[in-house]
Amino acid sequence: MTEPNPPDPKIIEQFEQMRRRRWIILAIGFVLLAVYFATLLRIKEVAAATGLSKMAVMVAVVLPLLVVMLAAFANWRCPACHKPLGRTFNPSFCPRCGAKLKE
Ligand SMILES: [Zn+2]
Repeated sequence: MTEPNPPDPKIIEQFEQMRRRRWIILAIGFVLLAVYFATLLRIKEVAAATGLSKMAVMVAVVLPLLVVMLAAFANWRCPACHKPLGRTFNPSFCPRCGAKLKE
């Protein structure tokens, strides 16, 4: 067993920023999801109004969602070892390297 790393204020600050960024990403994700469902319900009207095929309209609303999911995934990494933090919602320590993430 290795000793847990001593708390690093820089890591804790970076983690705090990540958590703030995650709320922003989540908020954008919800807006895009709402747009996605709204478009899905009126796909014929949207396609007619924009002159795009239904397929193109679907791609146009699904792509930003995928980008946001990737951004959320890329953001949610340990600031110390850069490994994904996985499904942990509010960890105090990195499950991989043991870095302290909160005061
Ligand atoms: Zn780590």
